[in-house]
Amino acid sequence: MVRPSIVWFRDDLRLADNPALRAAIDRGEPIVALYVLDEESPGVRALGGAARWWLHHSLASLGDRLRERGATLVLRRGPAERIVRELAVDASAGAVFWNRRYGGPEREIDTVLKTGLREEGVDVASFTGSLLFEPWTVKTGAGTHFSVFTPFWRACLALPSPRAPLPEPREVDGLRGGVASASLEDWELLPRHPDWAGGLRDTWEPGEPAARRRLREFLEDDLAAYDRARDEPAAGATSLLSPRLRWGEVSPFTVWHETVEAGHGGRFLSELGWREFAWHTLFHFPELATKNLRSEFDTFPWPRLKRAHLEAWQQGRTGVPLVDAGMNELWATGYMHNRVRMVAASFLVKNLLIDWRRGEEWFWDTLVDADEANNPFNWQWVAGSGADAAPYFRIFNPQVQAKKFDADGHYVREWAPASLSDDGPEPLVDLGETRAAALAAYEHVKRAA
Ligand code: FAD
Repeated sequence: MVRPSIVWFRDDLRLADNPALRAAIDRGEPIVALYVLDEESPGVRALGGAARWWLHHSLASLGDRLRERGATLVLRRGPAERIVRELAVDASAGAVFWNRRYGGPEREIDTVLKTGLREEGVDVASFTGSLLFEPWTVKTGAGTHFSVFTPFWRACLALPSPRAPLPEPREVDGLRGGVASASLEDWELLPRHPDWAGGLRDTWEPGEPAARRRLREFLEDDLAAYDRARDEPAAGATSLLSPRLRWGEVSPFTVWHETVEAGHGGRFLSELGWREFAWHTLFHFPELATKNLRSEFDTFPWPRLKRAHLEAWQQGRTGVPLVDAGMNELWATGYMHNRVRMVAASFLVKNLLIDWRRGEEWFWDTLVDADEANNPFNWQWVAGSGADAAPYFRIFNPQVQAKKFDADGHYVREWAPASLSDDGPEPLVDLGETRAAALAAYEHVKRAA
């Protein structure tokens, strides 16, 4: 009797360096490739709008690539634990394979599922596909997890090097007939009324082939200038791999090894290290998106939310050119350069005195690379409440930042040209006064520390 293998794709929408897919191929039975849109399991965060747009296109691409190799991507919607179990029964599966994920609710689902399936006589195996180093393998001398990046990354680099990436399979022996799939169109992941995704379409090509192409282009054309120009938003010197890594269209192992081969990649690899650090932090602190990592920040006296200020920030109307440029870039493209993310986030938290969680939610909805770890981790980093965070009292001055990193104004001219004209919007708040107010509020945290 045929007992097919289910490969459950999650944040690993690729064929190359996909250990779960490889295990299924090696097992030798026909394969059911599955993706579950889970918007019902408790605690699983519903995707934001820009993420849904990316997911649609990435699934379409994965589906095409599987079809070319002989398999179908089966789409199902609902609570993942139930869906996977039902499919395992319906397809008389002998094995289920997946690459691990690290958020709290997701781990809970996977653990319950693993136990349940095994009790029913189904083999289950999970693999390392999305992180270079497993969170439980990187520990301080005292056996705890790291709260500071530099020793964390040093400890990672002292471990055995990340394994070599697995080759892309030429054929995937799909199970013939019998497994029903939802239609991607019916999931309505794309915005319709209104269709605000024009800028995303102009900027990005989701899917594994484009991700691999971008990696090659970056290594050939941009890596040499990365260390010097990575902080300049107009320089185009960074990899733009974040959404590709977010959706797993390219694996960090592939990025790692191709970068090492290209040479001069130490600084760039350490950015991948920050990605690891964020995910390890989430693994140890699953409430990263809702709770201050440093609990003394719970005493921070956030004033009553001024909704008009939040909306002005969201809509690029703060009158602070670099902030508005960043927020406009985000709205148009689903992306913002890292330096500008830091400045825009700092302005929200420390000049408008708006809780970092409101900013994190907006980025969650609008970034194509929004993920459960990097987004809250970086917001908490800016807010001062996170791991190895910027000290609260070091408050970015957006004008100084613009002079330093956008000296000739290219970036601001592209994304907020009106702010440079004489009749451009007045700053929403006085930078000096709000800075002083933020520092006064911070006194509460100092007392609680
Ligand atoms: P590169 O400079 O080419 O870096 C290569 C890769 O390293 C990135 O693709 C990313 O995977 C990783 N990386 C780089 N910087 C960081 C960082 N600070 N933290 C973690 N990983 C990093 N990144 C996300 O991937 N998703 C998010 O939701 C996200 N939210 C952010 C929110 C705020 C407030 C801030 C300040 C930063 C956020 N970042 C987030 C981190 C960073 O801004 C982006 O990863 C980066 O801008 C992506 O561009 P790139 O791929 O060209 O980066």
